[in-house]
Amino acid sequence: MEYSVKRDAAYCFCCRWFRSGNQSLGGLGNVFVQPGYKNWQKATQPGRGLDGHDRFAFHTACFHPWKLWQEGQLKSKSVLHQLSHSQLERNRVYLSYVANLVRFLVIHEKPMRGTDEVIGRDNSGFFLAMMERDMANNTELRHAADSIPKHCTYTSPEAQNELISIWFELLQSVIVKRVNESSRYCVMADETRNKNNVEDMCVCVRCIDNMFVAHEYLL
Ligand SMILES: [Zn+2]
Repeated sequence: MEYSVKRDAAYCFCCRWFRSGNQSLGGLGNVFVQPGYKNWQKATQPGRGLDGHDRFAFHTACFHPWKLWQEGQLKSKSVLHQLSHSQLERNRVYLSYVANLVRFLVIHEKPMRGTDEVIGRDNSGFFLAMMERDMANNTELRHAADSIPKHCTYTSPEAQNELISIWFELLQSVIVKRVNESSRYCVMADETRNKNNVEDMCVCVRCIDNMFVAHEYLL
């Protein structure tokens, strides 16, 4: 169980973080996920409150994956050994889609975040809006997204930033490889003061390939 001091409400940890997207909420399943349980007078009565939620099918469906995850943590088992082959394939479909969506938005210099970051809302931002559209048109992706537990959807700003860093490292390694293979190269750098009075430096590398064609890359 989790308790929010701010909202004075109780939540079920495994129902919040280990439910799949295609599991529908209802009754005592719903209230322990959102908006939180507050009926303290009936909280400990048999068959109601906490006890009622404990017997709820939705809670049981979330409890099992949570325990599996805990066992895996204790045994330090890789996720590759915990999941079925079909689930691994679905995870790969989903994660490669998310990674490529981040890459697409970065290349086109689009802001990812909105003011109301929930799929289906008007101002959810480019990232979630495009996810919503693509999942509506792609059954395989929709199926993969529905099977992803809610604690690893990779849609948070932290996950987006991590994916951007990974793409950057991959790009940088390709540039370094090309520079190392070139016959000649030089490095150019320039800096300018931004509006916060901090110097911004950009570094550019120019190299000549084996066909004597010049290439420039911004690092
Ligand atoms: Zn629960």
